[in-house]
Amino acid sequence: MLKTQNCGELRPAHAGQEVLMAGWVFRRRDQGGLIFIDLRDRWGITQVVVNQETSPDAHRVADSLRNEYVVQVRGLVRQRPEGTANSELETGDIEVVASEITLLNASKTPPFYINQDTKIDEVARMKYRYLDLRRPKMQENIILRHRVVKGMRDYLDKLDFVEIETPILFKTTPEGARDFLVPSRLMPGNFYALPQSPQQLKQLLMVAGYERYFQIARCFRDEDLRGDRQPEFTQLDLEMSFVQREDIITLIEGLMIYLTEQVLGKTPMFKPFPRIKYIDAMEMYGSDKPDLRYELAAVDITDLAAASGFQVFKSSAAAGKPVKAFRAPGMALRSGTALRKLMDDLETLARANGAKGLAWLGMPETEGGELKGPVGKFFGAEQLAELFQRTEAKPGDLLLFITDERETVYRIVDVLRRTIAHELGLDDPEKLAFGWIIDFPMFYWNEEEQRWDPSQHMFTMPLPEDLPLLDTDPGAARGSQYDLALNGYEVAGGSIRIHDRAVQEKMFPLIGQSLERAREQFGHMLEAFEYGVPPHGGVAVGVDRLVMLYAQEPNIREVIAFPKTQAGADIMAHAPSPAEPKQLEELGIAVVYKEDEKE
Ligand code: ASP
Repeated sequence: MLKTQNCGELRPAHAGQEVLMAGWVFRRRDQGGLIFIDLRDRWGITQVVVNQETSPDAHRVADSLRNEYVVQVRGLVRQRPEGTANSELETGDIEVVASEITLLNASKTPPFYINQDTKIDEVARMKYRYLDLRRPKMQENIILRHRVVKGMRDYLDKLDFVEIETPILFKTTPEGARDFLVPSRLMPGNFYALPQSPQQLKQLLMVAGYERYFQIARCFRDEDLRGDRQPEFTQLDLEMSFVQREDIITLIEGLMIYLTEQVLGKTPMFKPFPRIKYIDAMEMYGSDKPDLRYELAAVDITDLAAASGFQVFKSSAAAGKPVKAFRAPGMALRSGTALRKLMDDLETLARANGAKGLAWLGMPETEGGELKGPVGKFFGAEQLAELFQRTEAKPGDLLLFITDERETVYRIVDVLRRTIAHELGLDDPEKLAFGWIIDFPMFYWNEEEQRWDPSQHMFTMPLPEDLPLLDTDPGAARGSQYDLALNGYEVAGGSIRIHDRAVQEKMFPLIGQSLERAREQFGHMLEAFEYGVPPHGGVAVGVDRLVMLYAQEPNIREVIAFPKTQAGADIMAHAPSPAEPKQLEELGIAVVYKEDEKE
């Protein structure tokens, strides 16, 4: 080895020991006769001192070093002189007095600082990802990710799960996104689809009798990217036989508590995790992945609104639209201009999400004082009392009123809730609030295509008592799906599966697929369902999102070693890139550009 010690391990007990170390120059301070080098490797930083008088050769080399040069240092460990210890470094009580320094490789001046936690242009970070990954924060994230994944493997191995790889070159497994296709050279005109998830294969493994499967699986979905999405991402994919919903929920809850406590060293806010029915989550929080770090919830006041003197509310209620009140604690205490500015901002936000306006009412600053805002006067005293009771409004609180089509109301409640919580500092990233969402509808109505879309995927079993609704009222059927929310993100989702060919075949026409086409696409699944299929269910945990939240990062690119940009590109390696004409020819493919895509 070119090193006997790493840069994070020396302590005062090592004083007097000769060591050989190697790493990168993190920082260099030249004090004339003495040069100090902060030597960095994966494990930490160690201060190296080079004395011109006692080690002139080493000093000469040290003099030529610059940041990010790779060097090897031989030297003696000593306790730092009185008053020079650095409590911020784990190795801050010692230093290594160099007797010999060897330059192993020089470095150009990096395009950004590795040794400062300043904001760096993301394009530069992506282009020089190998330098970005040297930064201590990125190393922490990547190593945390490793520990989380290892924790998953350890936990599941103890429970007798088997890790099984499934193919990347496969056939469409729809999860609601577009497929990535890979052309076949040997069968021109034919394509593999990259799996949007191993869903079919893990179910087939249950048919095959493995009973407890998992995989740290890469999934591919060609969809528009957002902060928490990438075209390829990683999930802990898992499937079990002879289980019910409760079994999977219990297993994953145990795993999450284990990871949070044993790997991350924190405690989830709630144990056990709360369980919320989908409809309640939507009505209270406007979201099926609510942030449970704070309580803020919308309250239905449609009946009060209908009886009020406020025309907007009255006609809305008469048209069957819900009217909701949302309490922002203490926010009416702001002074006149600050309150007006707040209301302007909130109204702009609400409008951007489809609202036509945002009515409000400020509670008096003290008991018995005057209400602020224009809405209060439309309610009678009794109605007001009822309103305050339902919303639990206290002096100084701000009440916001939302009415529209139900879906729009949900969207606005969700965005207001997040914004207000952030404004009030309630979304502390140190806190981790897990919660299960259950009893999802099986389907959402797709107005454009005039068909039902599965709310999870087409392999989800309806709740047993709702099975007959598939024939009579599919919109009312609830699925056996369960999602796990963490701090406003969906970090896991799964379901008990259909394991009966007849039930599975019912799904296709509902979601707008002819049985013929379905048999072409999924004939192998349908056929498998005729060979002794155990009842089974499973789940997938989003590894990127979970680690992102553990690392308190704002997007998943921060916890993926080589992510794509928002446009789906790798700007370091320049992917995607055009294929050679010869490659296209072999594949029997001609590229036809659309008018606006020509260069
Ligand atoms: N296949 C689903 C997904 O990838 C998870 C599952 O149902 O197990 O989201």
